[in-house]
Amino acid sequence: MTDVVKLRHPEKRDRPDNPSPRKPSWIRVKAPTSPMFGEVKRLMRGLGLATVCEEAACPNIAECWAGKHTTLMIMGDTCTRACAFCNVATGKPKPLDPTEPTRVGEAARALGLAHLVITSVDRDDLEDGGASHFVAVVRAIRAAARSTTIETLTPDFKHKPKAVETLLTAPPDVFNHNLETVPRLYPTIRPGARYFTSLALLAEVKRLLPTMFTKSGLMVGLGETRGEILQVMDDLRAADVDFLTIGQYLQPTPKHAAVDRFVTPDEFAEYAALARGKGFLMVSATPLTRSSYHAGEDFAQLRAARLAQATPG
Ligand code: SF4
Repeated sequence: MTDVVKLRHPEKRDRPDNPSPRKPSWIRVKAPTSPMFGEVKRLMRGLGLATVCEEAACPNIAECWAGKHTTLMIMGDTCTRACAFCNVATGKPKPLDPTEPTRVGEAARALGLAHLVITSVDRDDLEDGGASHFVAVVRAIRAAARSTTIETLTPDFKHKPKAVETLLTAPPDVFNHNLETVPRLYPTIRPGARYFTSLALLAEVKRLLPTMFTKSGLMVGLGETRGEILQVMDDLRAADVDFLTIGQYLQPTPKHAAVDRFVTPDEFAEYAALARGKGFLMVSATPLTRSSYHAGEDFAQLRAARLAQATPG
């Protein structure tokens, strides 16, 4: 049994291993070689901040950090849920640290990025699911790094009352919440969540703030069918979601859900074409697409796409 399972996933410790097929040639994980990688790491350690890039063992970390593109994970490094796909540690989280928003602001200033993505662990223990902490973080970034646009990749707040209204008191530039998989697989892959709660969250954000850019992501290769993915696309369009990301699921440890199959680059291209046909303003669908991958460039394109749509003839 690997240490990572013992330490990070005690709930998965006694489960049998789930063997996955060998990675195909198109799944390439690069080793970090850029000096910027060490700089980003030092900055995060110095400010006592966690990143989902590290916590989720993201395959794109070498490429993203070479350009300082990192996704901060707030509200601690311990999640109250235990999803079958996720490498973030599960356990009882510590109380919220009131200095974290200021430290995130300092990180935003030091990184100097055009666009910064902030995500979090699930905090089902908090009365508002952590919505007011997101607000404090967004305000701190706006104060410290005025020109940086902000994308919040949030949990579902466990459908806590007024969480969305709270979040929108300091609206980000992009509201992102991942559906992750098709509804049939929720009980095994995302057992602490409900598909229609997540969908309703995305719809509610757009209803309360129609100018907000909304975004959601799916992992494929977990056993879903093509028809199920197309249905999820329709559901997301019915919720008026602007931007869809689709990437290959990769198994973080043998105790996590097995990869059912590796979806080919051609199939990803087909999903992208089908999603565009269904009216998403932006689609990113490649094997290594992640919700925050190339988020800055994609946001620039998203804004341009909305402008083009609003400009007559
Ligand atoms: S894709 Fe997102 S999570 Fe992965 S390394 Fe890049 S910024 Fe981090």
